[in-house]
Amino acid sequence: MLEKVLIANRGEIALRILRACKEVGIKTVAAHSTADRNLMHVRLADESVCIGPPSSLESYLNIPRIISAMEVTGADAVHPGYGFLSENANFAEQVERSGFIFIGPRPETIRAMGDKVSAIDVMRKAGVPTVPGSDGPVTEDTDCTLAIARKIGYPIMIKAAAGGGGRGMRVVHEEADLLSFIQLTQNEAGAFFGNNMVYLEKFLDNPRHIEIQVIGDGNGNAICLGDRDCSMQRRHQKVVEEAPAPGIPDEVRAGIVKSCIKACEDLKYRGAGTLEFLYQNGKFYFIEMNTRVQVEHPVTERITGIDIVKEQLCIAAGLGLSVTQDQVKLTGHAIECRICAEDPNTFLPCPGKVNLYHAPGGIGIRVDSHMYSGYTVPPYYDSLIAKLISYGPDRNTAIRRMQNALEEMIVDGIKTNIPLQGEIMRDPGFRAGGTNIHYLEAMLKKKNGNGTGNGH
Ligand code: ADP
Repeated sequence: MLEKVLIANRGEIALRILRACKEVGIKTVAAHSTADRNLMHVRLADESVCIGPPSSLESYLNIPRIISAMEVTGADAVHPGYGFLSENANFAEQVERSGFIFIGPRPETIRAMGDKVSAIDVMRKAGVPTVPGSDGPVTEDTDCTLAIARKIGYPIMIKAAAGGGGRGMRVVHEEADLLSFIQLTQNEAGAFFGNNMVYLEKFLDNPRHIEIQVIGDGNGNAICLGDRDCSMQRRHQKVVEEAPAPGIPDEVRAGIVKSCIKACEDLKYRGAGTLEFLYQNGKFYFIEMNTRVQVEHPVTERITGIDIVKEQLCIAAGLGLSVTQDQVKLTGHAIECRICAEDPNTFLPCPGKVNLYHAPGGIGIRVDSHMYSGYTVPPYYDSLIAKLISYGPDRNTAIRRMQNALEEMIVDGIKTNIPLQGEIMRDPGFRAGGTNIHYLEAMLKKKNGNGTGNGH
């Protein structure tokens, strides 16, 4: 097993990683910024090391400081969590070149999947269905681009190859706008991501977002831990996730699982990963792969009984997968609500001091949170303060338990989106299951009587 893991992240995921390490007897180092001295996992870790000021660029995103922290504390491996450096191939490469273990895929896999054009290419070759599109980057040959677009058919989405976080995407409805919109997206992509490559994809009008969780041992063996539905989104950001995705026919599910496993085996994929798809009219279309643990991994853990972070640690230690595909059994239904420190009407972040925190409980409830009474949510990072996960033998029970948990949960002192999550749980469309990616925004619009959902 690994001996000492440096946790290069913060908040709930840092605590989640710490718990998995403790369970298997690995020592932990919490690398934190000056703003995060009082984080729960910093208190609980065997050692802690301050890596810089609050600004992420000078702390959680600073590669030399993190590698120095590993050297100074004698850690043998680093867990990057999600966000920050988790999908940075240069980081993974430098960690390995410095003689440490990166808990995640090989740098070349991260690099190939980080470029969406190359990711789509790899997946298409492995037999994974992709969105009809340009099958490569847009070139300077405008006649060729116009011809490709005509073949795809409008509306079309222009996407940045290096895009992420819902940025670098634009929809074109008619040919007259195509070339100028491509230029705009290229300029934006260059400014945001330092890479102006864009590609074209058919714009699907009412898809669901469904993703497949995989784990590979790095030697060509891979298993699938089922799917998750993450269609409840606002501005392309997930708000509620659930597993399994409701209403997918068995044979369609079996087909997509088979092709995902094959793709991971072809890639000799190492560690945990997620293939994201759009699902419309009974068909799956690959959009991207995330080469890290996802925020929503607990819903999969709940229905499979498999500890995904522990699997990551074992694979990094060279111990392989703890289960075979035949041993993976999916039972019941799990839902996750992301609890954020934000105004439930304006969605503006609400950092500040939590005077009182009371966590919900009871059968089928899991709370992943770094919060405690007296904790101050800093203004510098993501507003996620807790993940509430409910489980039941069926979807309705999971929803009822989630409603109870949301009513029990007290976060006093700052505003949170708990009331909004309650509204989603009570909403007839959500309760029916299978809503598409536009549903939540339409629901907010109806509630607020305007197009922005922010009450202005
Ligand atoms: P990012 O890496 O920025 O998250 P994705 O490619 O994962 O970008 O897409 C984010 C979201 O954008 C999807 O969940 C979906 O809501 C929407 N989207 C992406 N591609 C398409 C498409 N071809 N048609 C319709 N919506 C899309």
